[in-house]
Amino acid sequence: MTDIKLYNTMAREKQVFTPIDPKNVRMYVCGPTVYDRAHLGNARPVVVFDVLYRLLRHVYGPDHVTYVRNFTDVDDKINATALQRKEAGAEGTLEELVHERSNETIGWYLQDMGALGALEPDEMPRATEFVGPMIAMIEDLIAKGHAYEAEGHVLFAVESYKNYGRLSGRSVDDMIAGARVEVAPYKKNPMDFVLWKPSTDDLPGWDSPWGRGRPGWHIECSAMSYELLGATFDIHGGGNDLQFPHHENEIAQSKCAHPDAGFANYWLHNEMLQVEGKKMSKSLGNFFTVHDLLEQGVPGEVIRFVFLGTHYRKPMDWTEKKAEQAFNTVRRWQAHAQAVGFGERGEGVGDNVEVIPGFVEALSDDLNTSLALTLLDRFEREYLREENVELDMVAQFSRSLRLIGLDGKRKDQNAFPEEIAAQFDKASAWSRIGTMIDAARTEKNFDEADRIRDAAKAAGFEVHTTKDGTILSETLDSDYSKLEGL
Ligand code: AMP
Ligand code: ZN
Repeated sequence: MTDIKLYNTMAREKQVFTPIDPKNVRMYVCGPTVYDRAHLGNARPVVVFDVLYRLLRHVYGPDHVTYVRNFTDVDDKINATALQRKEAGAEGTLEELVHERSNETIGWYLQDMGALGALEPDEMPRATEFVGPMIAMIEDLIAKGHAYEAEGHVLFAVESYKNYGRLSGRSVDDMIAGARVEVAPYKKNPMDFVLWKPSTDDLPGWDSPWGRGRPGWHIECSAMSYELLGATFDIHGGGNDLQFPHHENEIAQSKCAHPDAGFANYWLHNEMLQVEGKKMSKSLGNFFTVHDLLEQGVPGEVIRFVFLGTHYRKPMDWTEKKAEQAFNTVRRWQAHAQAVGFGERGEGVGDNVEVIPGFVEALSDDLNTSLALTLLDRFEREYLREENVELDMVAQFSRSLRLIGLDGKRKDQNAFPEEIAAQFDKASAWSRIGTMIDAARTEKNFDEADRIRDAAKAAGFEVHTTKDGTILSETLDSDYSKLEGL
């Protein structure tokens, strides 16, 4: 089995990944706050951890990996939109409108991320569905002396956890000096953070031992990862910006609630995305959503390809030029892959199948996706541009594309523009005929199978029988119009 090496932020070095249980590899990634469309930067962790998820499934088997990514649906901005809608005369209670807004945003998110070729995690818990376990964890933290109640709030006492700051490498004193902490008279230490806070009557709230209120952000992930993955699991991921305070606080909560457990063994963080060399921001006018790009006709795979071109621990720059260049490459690659119809042959993602040489090793080296793309590029130039391409080579190539999520199997409707769609139609004709021949053979209708095969040959195609079924390949004489009536 290939060794996977990952850079563990906690250890500050690349380490060989050893799962607690290879039969159940567990990963938790902090998901979005669902108040609006995801911007392009939000998509980076999704693509990065999707690659890791796919690699883990490839190495350990698709049934032996559990990936959890939450939705934060307790948030002031969600409430604000709901309130605006109510004031504008929308029907329903405020709670219903809040729920409606989260649902709408979650729907968009899944659609947009699906367009980028991201597999859906095995579990996508919403914070609002786990308030009970959060309250239980807070009670436990109070009982163990790590948290205290003050003026309807419950705060975590950072001084009660000696390793506070270890992940991000800061001491509590440094943090106080450097951070913009919310000063509040009820805090014993300015760094103490909120586990629970009161809610006003007109906003969503839950009954608790400390009155009607709502959970803080950090306790969500501690409670949900515990419920779904246990007190110790393998990988915890998220953007760099979450290291402090979010992940630091998650660690403090989880380790204090379950002192004998390890919480997450490997911490992974992706660097930020910029646009044309600048931080993405509304005021610079370079802020856009994934949906905006898809609407402009940039295919999801092109966005994904550009992302994969930069190592996840480096800042990445989105430029139009990169997208343009990626467009042609992705188009050419997918035409190869779709041509043999492997995308439709029913092998599950992550099957431990043969990919191009060096591919899994590149990904296993702390997700060296840009090397993986280079290998694909070289392979394509070397083996797939000849007249008589070997099917095995195309198959390996196409399986590699699938492993990295560039195979074009997407859920969204945002298809490639017409000229490219036409290429794909051609391609699907190839696989369609192969499938028809296989179906006829399965039904022992050999005359029909031979008839289709002969017609395909007459149309200028070669017909190959492979272990994955019958496949057509193109020759210089191929005439697609002759396949149409078959
Ligand atoms: P949020 O919804 O703001 O909590 O962010 C969701 C995810 O997007 C987090 O993992 C953030 O780290 C990540 N994220 C936000 N902005 C960027 C960016 N510019 N580049 C990369 N990741 C980002
Ligand atoms: Zn989190």
